[in-house]
Amino acid sequence: MEHFYTLQGEGFHQGKAAYFIRLGGCDVGCIWCDVKESWDTDKHPKYDIGSLIADIKKNIPVSPSAGGGQGEAIVVITGGEPLMHDLSELTKEFQAGGFKTHLETSGAYPLTGSWDWICLSPKKFKAPLPGILPEAHELKVVVFNKSDFEWAEKYAARVSSICKLYLQPEWDKASQMTPLIIDYIKANPKWELSLQIHKYINVP
Ligand code: SF4
Repeated sequence: MEHFYTLQGEGFHQGKAAYFIRLGGCDVGCIWCDVKESWDTDKHPKYDIGSLIADIKKNIPVSPSAGGGQGEAIVVITGGEPLMHDLSELTKEFQAGGFKTHLETSGAYPLTGSWDWICLSPKKFKAPLPGILPEAHELKVVVFNKSDFEWAEKYAARVSSICKLYLQPEWDKASQMTPLIIDYIKANPKWELSLQIHKYINVP
């Protein structure tokens, strides 16, 4: 759908430079989805992996600390629901080039690809498959109403003991939900707050 260099706005890697690749296609159907234009896979151009990677490499600055390469660069594969596609070849190519591969997924489709970081953001509208739960480095639950805290705990109990836990207010409900999240985290400090800072600083 699109690819762009920006700052990661959410979760554990918030504030870091990252190249985002947003893949078209999603049938999860979140009512509050902010990228509904991603849903129809056929509305977006298709690229072969080689030309996509070559194009992206041109846009990522060379890092002297990476020996003149781009070795520290993070590439985030997001969507849509990126796991509707087989991501094996794409992630293999990026890792071969020294990039860190990060995934943002609802987990509703089988896990493919080779990942340095997996952010699982399960959705009520289409549950994640069980296989991804122990693989997640980060569990990020979007809080849209009060019942989402109980739902978040259901998944926190099923991820690994080292998985980071984040609660993130749904953007249009942030004024109502953020105070509740703050109180919840104070009472349950295994959780941390994730804000969509890219929306506050007005970057994509
Ligand atoms: S999983 Fe993501 S892209 Fe798909 S409907 Fe939900 S928020 Fe939108």
